[in-house]
Amino acid sequence: MKKIALFLLVSITGVLGSAKSQDSVFARSVMCQLSSAEMYGRGYSFKGDSIAASYLSQLFAEMEVEPIGIDRYFQHFMFNTFVMEGDCELKIGKRVLEPGKDYYIAPFSIPLKDKKMRVIYADLKAIVQPGGLEMFCKENRRRLESSLVYINTANMELGDAEKEFLQKLKTKSNPFNSKGVVLGVESLPSATVAVQYDENIKKYSLINVIDSLFSAKPETIQINYSNELRLHTTQNVCAMISGSEVPDSIIIFSAHYDHVGTLGSKTYYPGAHDNASGTAAVMDIARYFSANPPKYSVAFLLFTAEEAGLLGSSYFVMNPLFSLKKVKMAINLDMFCGGDDGLMVVNSQVKETKPFFDRMKELNEANRYVKELKSRPNAPNSDHYFLSMHCPAIFIYTLGGRYGGYHNVYDTCEECGLENYQNIINLIIQSVAD
Ligand SMILES: [Zn+2]
Repeated sequence: MKKIALFLLVSITGVLGSAKSQDSVFARSVMCQLSSAEMYGRGYSFKGDSIAASYLSQLFAEMEVEPIGIDRYFQHFMFNTFVMEGDCELKIGKRVLEPGKDYYIAPFSIPLKDKKMRVIYADLKAIVQPGGLEMFCKENRRRLESSLVYINTANMELGDAEKEFLQKLKTKSNPFNSKGVVLGVESLPSATVAVQYDENIKKYSLINVIDSLFSAKPETIQINYSNELRLHTTQNVCAMISGSEVPDSIIIFSAHYDHVGTLGSKTYYPGAHDNASGTAAVMDIARYFSANPPKYSVAFLLFTAEEAGLLGSSYFVMNPLFSLKKVKMAINLDMFCGGDDGLMVVNSQVKETKPFFDRMKELNEANRYVKELKSRPNAPNSDHYFLSMHCPAIFIYTLGGRYGGYHNVYDTCEECGLENYQNIINLIIQSVAD
């Protein structure tokens, strides 16, 4: 509450006046709605992505921004993905661990239903020695198949051999042939999405646990979670405002609205920074242009399944809803909280995008909207990437400032700083003005 009160004060006393401060209130309300428990982390379990899509399409309809999808605002497609929708429990003795805070289950893990599992402890340093793995497997031969192997990786200097071993383990191969592996870690890795089993390897479970919880080396743990690979239907959400003077020239504003979903039925990843914030900004820009008709047409593309590997934007590029030849500039927004240190503009130094970037810089120098505008080469790190193969496309993200976390349970709406938000939006809107 304190942080929100501070943010309102900053907006209202800012140079932009009271009408503009309303805009960041709108963006925050959209962002908080998207990152709420009702949206299940906008992943693929509990159809969180579809709940978010229907909310966003309703907002477009209220603003009277026209649908351009196949089914009104929606462009549907399907893909395979893992979903964790059941109980998610891990107990050491009587202690119940908290999913997302104490432990994280890799998304490709086989389900382990209500099981008391034996834990066998392996020493990483010994395992990577020549013959070390073979010796460990031989010693534990009879027990391995039904057990979990615990490897501590926290608070130790990792050499190349250790890193290589862990890398293999994390990219879906289990050299122990055990039911699964528990990795003791200092902090949990970023939550991710998995879309397939590797058919060439034996399936297993990979659980990351804060290492101090295993300091007493329990002989068994109680574990219970489900996980399922499922054919999932999802959708891009697409809308457009026709230009008043040059309707055949289109500016795209895009953002992915999906995130990494849930860990069981009770724990969800809010994804405020990634990317409820960018989605809220696109909705806010749509609201601005619905009240201030643009010279060029403006398309609003809210992509799904970015977290599953840029699937929504790649589907859109293969099945475009308008000719991509008409696109004057595509501006993708992803991770939009904070921004105290300015903005990074990805793919802004090629001949198709540099004039636009230079104009942004000029406007910024004249108006001091943000601290700095930085540039980096193109990379497949967000939804601008497949668009950039067909039209001028940039990706803007904020630098520095306040946000709760990255792909973890702490990336909440309350932790997202929007102190620079209105300045950023003003800069972007001015940059596309003519
Ligand atoms: Zn992400």
